Amino acid sequence: MPRSDRILMGPGPCNPYPEVAEAFARPLLGHLDPTFLALLDETCDRLRTVFETANELTLPISGTGSAGMEAAFVNLVEPGTVVVVGVNGVFGERMCDVADRCGAKVVRVEADWGRALDPGALLDAHAAPDLIAVVHAETSTGVANDIEPLGAGKGDALLLVDCVTSLGGMPVRVDDWGVDIAYSGTQKCLGVPPGLAPLTVGERARARLVERSPSWYLDLRMIGDYAVEGSARRYHHTAPTAMIAALHAGLGHVLDEGLEAAWARHAECGRLLHEGLADLGLTLFAEAGHCLPNLTTVVVPDGVDEAAVRRRLLERHGIEIGAGAGPLAGRVWRIGCMGHTARPRNVTLLLAALAEALP
Ligand SMILES: *Cc1c(COP(=O)(O)O)cnc(C)c1O
Repeated sequence: MPRSDRILMGPGPCNPYPEVAEAFARPLLGHLDPTFLALLDETCDRLRTVFETANELTLPISGTGSAGMEAAFVNLVEPGTVVVVGVNGVFGERMCDVADRCGAKVVRVEADWGRALDPGALLDAHAAPDLIAVVHAETSTGVANDIEPLGAGKGDALLLVDCVTSLGGMPVRVDDWGVDIAYSGTQKCLGVPPGLAPLTVGERARARLVERSPSWYLDLRMIGDYAVEGSARRYHHTAPTAMIAALHAGLGHVLDEGLEAAWARHAECGRLLHEGLADLGLTLFAEAGHCLPNLTTVVVPDGVDEAAVRRRLLERHGIEIGAGAGPLAGRVWRIGCMGHTARPRNVTLLLAALAEALP
């Protein structure tokens, strides 16, 4: 199968929207060119729309989704900061590691992998946490965690949410849900290659930014002076102009389609996939009622060589699906329907290919 025919149905990257390739084909702009700065401002505006927020400090961080995670923590956590972290998969674990490296007092609230976090348990975990941190869409398990009750019950704490897999593929309502800081990645449901981490920071969180972040590169006090409209545009690091143009184009696609329509398309693909997998006699791994539409975990049947199935899908049909991560390695497949990949025809093709590849 030629590379150009690949259908990327792993946990990421997805196939980029067609407008993204057009953006990469355009001449490169300098990072202080007024034309580029206007494009950056429009990109930040589009991010506000997609995050459903009025937050002024909304921008793409240079780096993948994990850079967004790190930017959130290194700007809000000092030695001794109390951080409650929900852990029901790889990315909750990663949050604990990042917070711990910043010197946080980490309070872990766990749920079994495959089950959703209990919002009450998160809210009751500590009498006065500084920060409550949760992954909205756990890509390692295919589970959606509830965010809204956390915003309602957070009290004085700040609410930090990982929206890497959810943004652009399902509702993310930063302002309505009371989220104080959220980040995403370009390669999941935004339909852009990996390389940037959209980030949004509310006023409560801005007021509590640490005085001097231990990270020079991710210090929001300095990055904001370049990236925020009306700022001094002081050079901090060279903005990845081609990637920002690509993100601008991907967001343009989402907004032309309509945010609600994009969510509905992801939801439809999830439903078709879940039904089709059940028809094949396969079992979903994630708890019923909390299955993500855009990232589906399927139990590998006993006696099946899961790597051989993935190889066959890739070699014969050009379809990439993901393997299990961490303790789920060898036990599940992870099937992404994200961004431009989230089309019913891709789901139909995958189901037929899977039927053929299973013994
Ligand atoms: C993919 C992902 C990340 C990390 O993003 P990278 O782009 O791989 O650095 C973080 N959190 C979640 C929930 C993810 O799915």
